[in-house]
Amino acid sequence: MMIIDLHNHSYYSDGVLSPSEVVRLAKKEGCDVFALTDHDTTDGLAEAQQQADEIGLKLVHGVEVSAMCSKMTVHIVGLGVDINNTTLQAGLKQHQKFRRVRAEKMARGLGGAGVFNAMEKTQAIAKTDMITRTHFAQMLVQEGVCKDMRSVFKRFLTGKKPGGVGGKWAEYDEVIAWIHAAGGQAVLAHPLRYRMTNTKVKRLLSHLAGAGLDGVEVVTGSSSADEITLVSQWAKEFKLLSSQGSDYHGWPNQRVAIGKLMEMPNSETTIWRDWL
Ligand code: AMP
Ligand code: MN
Ligand code: MN
Ligand code: MN
Repeated sequence: MMIIDLHNHSYYSDGVLSPSEVVRLAKKEGCDVFALTDHDTTDGLAEAQQQADEIGLKLVHGVEVSAMCSKMTVHIVGLGVDINNTTLQAGLKQHQKFRRVRAEKMARGLGGAGVFNAMEKTQAIAKTDMITRTHFAQMLVQEGVCKDMRSVFKRFLTGKKPGGVGGKWAEYDEVIAWIHAAGGQAVLAHPLRYRMTNTKVKRLLSHLAGAGLDGVEVVTGSSSADEITLVSQWAKEFKLLSSQGSDYHGWPNQRVAIGKLMEMPNSETTIWRDWL
């Protein structure tokens, strides 16, 4: 049995480890195929590739792109992308720019709630230019404003809460087109984590499939057996390939581990069937 994990983060987005460290950990956990998929950036992949070559691990070049669908934010993972593709990079640059604008707005919102110098404090936590809501969350825990990440997202950083700023990501069809322009496959990440009813998720899948989506994550690090069965049926229904990934971030309290995934039921129609 090959161990395949196609969804992981480094500190180039909101993961804890460097690209080299995640690649070494993936090898240690027995991974045969591993994708680094940071949020809206491919900047960690050069370092990851160098390390993967040194220790002999098959690295898939990935990226987890934020996207809008019916005014909701969803995540579309690009797998096997050419990181030098100008269409993809122009799109990601647009998202990186929005992240900086959004971070300033979030910091202002938090200032209104009595959390001062939020921007400086958050920037100090981030290891790169990329600022995610996770960094703001870490800052609020570190400052003693909240006791853990869960309560941060409940009290701040969402909807009309202080620090909540609406997404202004590219539409899903554009994002899928960027990934395809870069020669990659587009996969809907963690379909059951969007706070939507199953009916809405199916509508989402049907929109995305119509725009050329290639696959959906059937198995994630936090999936239950019932969830896997459900999504594997949706994959068949919408004629999508099946992907799997832990969504490892390396946070101390995160239960998921790289490569530790339940079995994929759709073994004939995996996203990697033509790679190996
Ligand atoms: P961003 O892309 O900057 O909006 O940040 C989204 C990231 O925040 C996700 O990829 C998760 O890693 C993290 N996140 C979102 N909601 C929660 C939550 N309720 N608890 C913990 N982390 C969350
Ligand atoms: Mn994340
Ligand atoms: Mn995600
Ligand atoms: Mn992720």
